[in-house]
Amino acid sequence: MSVVQSNPARGESCDVVVVGAGFAGMYMLYRLRGLGFSVRVYEQGSGVGGTWYWNRYPGARCDVESMQYSYSFSDELQQQWDWSERYASQPEILRYANHVADRFDLRPDMQFDTTVQSCTFDEKTNSWSVATSKGEIVAAKFLVLATGCLSNARKPDIRGLDGFKGAVYHTGNWPHEPVDFTGLRVGIIGTGSSGIQAVPVIAGQARHLTVFQRTPNYSIPARNAPLSAEDRAAFRKIYPEVRRFAREEAKNGIYTEVPDRGALDDGDNGRRARYEARWQHGGLTFMSVYNNLALDKAANDTAADFVRGKIAETVKDPACAKLLQPTTYPIGTKRICIDTDYFETFNRPNVTLVDIRSNPIEEVLPSAVRAGGKDYEIDALVLATGFDAMTGSVAKIDIRGRGGRSLNQKWAEGPKTYLGLMSAGFPNLFIITGPGSPSVLSNMMVSIEQHVDWIADCLGFMRDRSLQTIEPEADAEEKWVAHVNEVANATLYPQANSWYMGANIPGKPRIFMPYIGGVGAYRQICNEVAAKGYEGFAMTAAARAQETAATA
Ligand SMILES: Cc1cc2nc3c(=O)[nH]c(=O)nc-3n(C[C@H](O)[C@H](O)[C@H](O)COP(=O)(O)OP(=O)(O)OC[C@H]3O[C@@H](n4cnc5c(N)ncnc54)[C@H](O)[C@@H]3O)c2cc1C
Repeated sequence: MSVVQSNPARGESCDVVVVGAGFAGMYMLYRLRGLGFSVRVYEQGSGVGGTWYWNRYPGARCDVESMQYSYSFSDELQQQWDWSERYASQPEILRYANHVADRFDLRPDMQFDTTVQSCTFDEKTNSWSVATSKGEIVAAKFLVLATGCLSNARKPDIRGLDGFKGAVYHTGNWPHEPVDFTGLRVGIIGTGSSGIQAVPVIAGQARHLTVFQRTPNYSIPARNAPLSAEDRAAFRKIYPEVRRFAREEAKNGIYTEVPDRGALDDGDNGRRARYEARWQHGGLTFMSVYNNLALDKAANDTAADFVRGKIAETVKDPACAKLLQPTTYPIGTKRICIDTDYFETFNRPNVTLVDIRSNPIEEVLPSAVRAGGKDYEIDALVLATGFDAMTGSVAKIDIRGRGGRSLNQKWAEGPKTYLGLMSAGFPNLFIITGPGSPSVLSNMMVSIEQHVDWIADCLGFMRDRSLQTIEPEADAEEKWVAHVNEVANATLYPQANSWYMGANIPGKPRIFMPYIGGVGAYRQICNEVAAKGYEGFAMTAAARAQETAATA
């Protein structure tokens, strides 16, 4: 396999700086290098993989099936890589990321253990000046933020947390060495996706596990299982259609049947039979049994009731079951969880559920968590408290665009982008799976590949025409932001206090951040914009760019 390495020396200028070496940054490097651009990737971790490098907690695994939660850009890769389970575990996904880095020889253009701290656009040279934690300043014509939507772990602000005597772990920043909870009393705060994956595994190891729950979540059994060689071969045969469907037709980038009816079109028995079949099948496709679960509250209630019924059937203690049943938001409007024996775990004698909605955590003591006036003795504490999602990692970088304006200032009332790809006033700065694009509402691999390909094509287009800058026109951006809100408001999603809305971060503006129009429709919009010469984007040639700078 022949690969061109761009490999600019450290500290020198290059065509493109990419921030982040998760799946987005890795593929961005691969594509740009293929086009002959010089690229430098900065990654604050010591290796590739992003999410799968950081989230090493017990039970961590993907919830989109492995055969689909994988790159599609190389047919050889997808034909040759053997996923061992229906949903791969974190170590296996990290091995895959490392395999891709080696296979395509990506590491020479990556610099690890390096945080990008600030990026400033120089209007005279039309380039970005990128400053890193290693004291380097690199000039790059283009800047791509592949910083991840779920990469800024949120540590809750709880009194006394720093004075806790035992070990404190965050699921999103888990140690690299194995953590052994054997014989320990463990507390876990948070019952979102990560908490739901970790609880059964920690409960199997710890002497006692106390689960502190603020909001119960809807969770569907994963039905994880080993993949046989025959399973893989059968899937590989249909890969072209699977990938095409995921890109072009699916709303969420996942290959599944398209529902032909709404939930209220079936009678009670028929509906129950369909939900039961999906429940037995397991996984995220539960939500695509019907075509109106995200749109119609009465339809949604039927699915929510079904899941609440399953929780009541599974959990033996009725009071505990009631606490685990979500009632305050429609099913699917917070990220739906996929679990292995989560609800069953509450039947174990060594597990206690504490409702911190009605008995809030008051403080962490040196060897206990105090909630509702009661002390829960623990030896170790796990924070499964999620992320400052979608904007958190971007906000940590001091980004200055035209006129020295900071992106954080511009986004103070909520993120504003055109297509989730760029923000007006910040020329030549691209965001992969940024707010305003389908991103976290989809199989992220599909959305990552689509954005990377669009950006790579755009840079090629600009180079062919000697164009210097690209940025959204203010009007196009405003219209897109309005469209993103309009589409979201036509659904039930804004009814939940979810991280999609920024609701898990005190003080963060409540804006529905991802684009809910569906990956297929979104791709078509992006393609049309490009086909019309990047409609809605202002592009400048060298002389024009300098004029703009002079009058700015
Ligand atoms: C536990 C968990 C399970 C998930 N499961 C699924 C799933 O099943 N299906 C799915 O579609 N999605 C899933 N996701 C979402 C997942 O984040 C994406 O699928 C995907 O891995 C994102 O890749 P990325 O490269 O965009 O971002 P990331 O993987 O988050 O990588 C971003 C990288 O940028 C680096 N970075 C950030 N800021 C800086 C900086 N200033 N300087 C230097 N480096 C920086 C970070 O260290 C990180 O390594 C999951 C997320 C989590 C947390």
